[in-house]
Amino acid sequence: MTAKPMGPIPPDHAASGMLMLGGEAATALVERHGSPLFVYDMGVVAARVARFRAAMPAGVALHYAIKANPLPALLARMAPLVDGFDVASQGEMAAAFAVQRADLVSFAGPGKSAGEIQAAVIAGVTLNVESAREVEVALSMGCRPKLAIRVNPSFELRGSGMRMGGGAKPFGIDEDEVPALVRRIVDAGAEWRGLHVYAGSQTLDAEALIEAQRQTVMLAARIADEAGVAPPSVNLGGGFGVPYFAGDEALDVERVGTALGRTLDEPPSTLDGCSFAIELGRWLVAEAGVYLTTVLDRKTSHGETFLVTDGGLHHQLAASGNFGTVVRRNYPLAVADRIGAEPQEVATVAGRLCTPLDRLGDRVALPRAEEGDLIAIFLAGAYGATASPTAFLGHPPAGEIVVG
Ligand SMILES: *Cc1c(COP(=O)(O)O)cnc(C)c1O
Repeated sequence: MTAKPMGPIPPDHAASGMLMLGGEAATALVERHGSPLFVYDMGVVAARVARFRAAMPAGVALHYAIKANPLPALLARMAPLVDGFDVASQGEMAAAFAVQRADLVSFAGPGKSAGEIQAAVIAGVTLNVESAREVEVALSMGCRPKLAIRVNPSFELRGSGMRMGGGAKPFGIDEDEVPALVRRIVDAGAEWRGLHVYAGSQTLDAEALIEAQRQTVMLAARIADEAGVAPPSVNLGGGFGVPYFAGDEALDVERVGTALGRTLDEPPSTLDGCSFAIELGRWLVAEAGVYLTTVLDRKTSHGETFLVTDGGLHHQLAASGNFGTVVRRNYPLAVADRIGAEPQEVATVAGRLCTPLDRLGDRVALPRAEEGDLIAIFLAGAYGATASPTAFLGHPPAGEIVVG
């Protein structure tokens, strides 16, 4: 029975062994709000935004891709911190409108229905169109749509956890078809908003991002040249990753920013006057979130210790290894009131669902935890509650609160 490595425990969370979140003890938050509980610390989010602004060239806009965490209370706090929201459905659009001006919202995503397109056009949202059909539907709406084209680039984002560009993809429009479609949009009298290139997600490789951004700028210049119209704005995508697992190294965002500064210092002449944006989800919110779950049962099977909790993959699918990973690895976790304590045993932290998939931590070295103790699973701020099969087995949903 060997312990498996955990991911890195975010260093700023511990004070005297007790996990503190927004200045309050994790155990006190659970007493007040119940267990299991997602806690999102807006102080951590604000620090991420500040780091982005310091690292990136002045004038590069920051958009929040709200699918990473669309909790209304979090969106309300996020709205003043960023320059726009990117949404991917009509439901997300409604969530964005509660706290954000419609002209600061853009809508990407394959397979937009006529109803969604109509709602977006009437509201004045920028549609990042993903097919010629979407362009025609938007143009038929009887009011002037704001249209940008999502381009499926011929290059890939190397090292990304999820590739969303390069080769055959359901996302965007193949780059060779884009210049003619730009002409169609401009000639039809729509408001031309520019280009959007989203090549992938979850990369920790600064060089790969630098290269993808450089290629995106060159691609935008080529399209502008062929179409004979400059894009008012180019969304360079995002893809900034977070180190989830032992051995992962955090992305060097400052290096990405310095290189982007060099690229944008001398932009191709066809991009004169063009503004640039980057859209991020996970990198802004993942580290701000902790999933807290209480040990219901401590048991032994064939010599192995199991801590069965009141949570599970129905709340935090990603930590169970069943969301976008091939090999299951442990997310960082800890006993919430003994951060930094010496490990005393190796235990498997299980969820309460009746499926072997429901493991939140596989053979983790931990201080001894008993019934009633609180387990903290870190990096739970992105793709948690809304990216998990909450209806599976019919347990109640986890609480979600914003602190800090
Ligand atoms: C999912 C998605 C994002 C956010 O990705 P993260 O990995 O959370 O940063 C941004 N843009 C588009 C188009 C997406 O589909």
